[in-house]
This record gives sequence, structure tokens and C-alpha cells, in this order.
Amino acid sequence: MIATDFRSGLERLGDMIAEASVIVPFTGAGISTESGIPDFRSPGGLWARNRPIPFDEFVASQEARDESWRRRFAMQENFAAAKPARGHRALAALYKAGKVPAIITQNIDNLHQASGFALDDVIELHGNTTYATCLGCQKRFEIAWAKDRFDETGEAPSCSECGQAVKTATISFGQSMPEDEMRRAAELARNCDLFMAIGSSLVVWPAAGFPLLARNSGAKLVIINNEPTEQDDIADLVIHHDIGETLGPFVGN
Ligand code: NAD
Repeated sequence: MIATDFRSGLERLGDMIAEASVIVPFTGAGISTESGIPDFRSPGGLWARNRPIPFDEFVASQEARDESWRRRFAMQENFAAAKPARGHRALAALYKAGKVPAIITQNIDNLHQASGFALDDVIELHGNTTYATCLGCQKRFEIAWAKDRFDETGEAPSCSECGQAVKTATISFGQSMPEDEMRRAAELARNCDLFMAIGSSLVVWPAAGFPLLARNSGAKLVIINNEPTEQDDIADLVIHHDIGETLGPFVGN
């Protein structure tokens, strides 16, 4: 059901949150635009500027790796300055209140952790861009280390241990999904009574399957997004409105 006006949608959302005992939020890039990180698909979003670099291209081509790292460094100021916004803080408040056991996110910006979720309670389906790992031996590297290497050599960095390519710890198109995270996300979706999809266009699969799975497992589904999504039809409540304004009342003190 699409909320006809914002006020009644907000009231209904408040009732659904109060009535639920296990709430699982599922977030996308839209929750972080208020933190100054552009999303992919809004006008002016990252896709309007850059075609994504698929995983096989990153592995095969030094040029693709260089370009990928150049784009990452260009975003560093945004990522470094970003602070949790009202949406992140509202979800963290529900987590602290014991209503939210863990959060599923497509985001790679670390802002749910920064808002107060324990690291283990943030299920990152697409990884994390605030650090990097070696594709060969999984050794962890910091972004500042990668930047120093890039500035020194003019090329994307390779591992100081095994020599393989170093990549931000994110999942690119064509890269396999993290198994443990997929399993935990499915478990959460199957075992909640309210599932909230927030700030996602719900077009990136398999991640977009989780709202559907929750709904089919008996949970109520809420979608909060500026624009319509393909799953609006199956949701119990759809709020087409700004996330900060919608979740702001749930931030608490
Ligand atoms: P998306 O860009 O496809 O969709 C974001 C949606 O959020 C859009 O439909 C947009 O209308 C909506 N939105 C933006 N700001 C909003 C606001 N303030 N209030 C309400 N709605 C708002 O994002 P996605 O579905 O997460 O898929 C993109 C992929 O890109 C993800 O897999 C993610 O890994 C990655 N990504 C992550 C970040 C991040 O970590 N912050 C940023 C860009 C892209």
C-alpha cells in the first residue's frame, strides 16, 4: 500500500514499528546521500558519471585497476568526511532498543558501524570500501597505503606479501557474493516480523531478493524510497519520501 500522504504514512510506520518484535532493516545507497555520499541511480549519481568496472576487467587489466583506484581516491574526501545521517541513527536507536538484531546493507561506506552497530551485526552484502584486501592472500591494506603506492609508482597497488592485485574490500559486478553474509541475510529475512527496505532501487540482484524472501516468509514489508521500486506492489507500506525526514522521528535522544 502506497502512503497517500506523508503524515499518515509516518503514523502507520510508527504503529508497525511499535507492533513488531523483530525488525530487519535492509539499506541501500539512498540512506547515505544525506551523509554526502552520492548514490548510483539518482540523477547526478555515480552511474551518470562512471560506467562500473566489472570484476573480470579489474583482474585482467592494469588500466582498469588504475582507473578503479583513481575513482576511489577521488571519493576519499566524501568517505572520510561522512557521518551517520538521521536514517542511520534511527536504525541504531532501534538496534539499541533491542528491536533490531542485525542489519543487512548493500552499502560499502561503514556508516552503520559508525552509528553504533557492532561490526558483527552489520551484514555487508557488497563489502566495504573503507579498506582494501589482496585478491590472492586476503591481506588487509588501508586506503592511505594504497594512495601512497599509487602516488609513488603511478599504478594501482599490488600486495606487499604475494604480489597479487589489491582491491577495495567491495564486491564488484561479476564477483561472487560473500557466502556467509548471504546465508546470514537469508536467515534474518526469514525470521523477522517486519522487514524495512530503505534507500534502495531494488534492482541489484541477488540483494534485491531479500525483501521478497522476507515477505514470502510472513514478515510485513515496508519500503522507504524517493522513487518507486519494482517491489512496491508487494509491500504493506510504501513511503515515497526523504529518508532523513521519515526516520528522523525515530532517532530519539
Ligand atoms: P541505488 O543508487 O540503485 O538506489 C538508491 C535509491 O535511493 C534511489 O532509488 C534513490 O531514489 C533513493 N534515494 C536517494 N537518496 C534518498 C533520500 N534521501 N531519501 C529517499 N530515497 C533516496 O542504490 P542501491 O539500491 O543501494 O544499489 C546500488 C549499489 O551501489 C549497491 O549495491 C551499493 O553497494 C553501491 N553503492 C553504495 C554506496 C554507499 O555505500 N553509500 C553509494 C553508491 C553505490
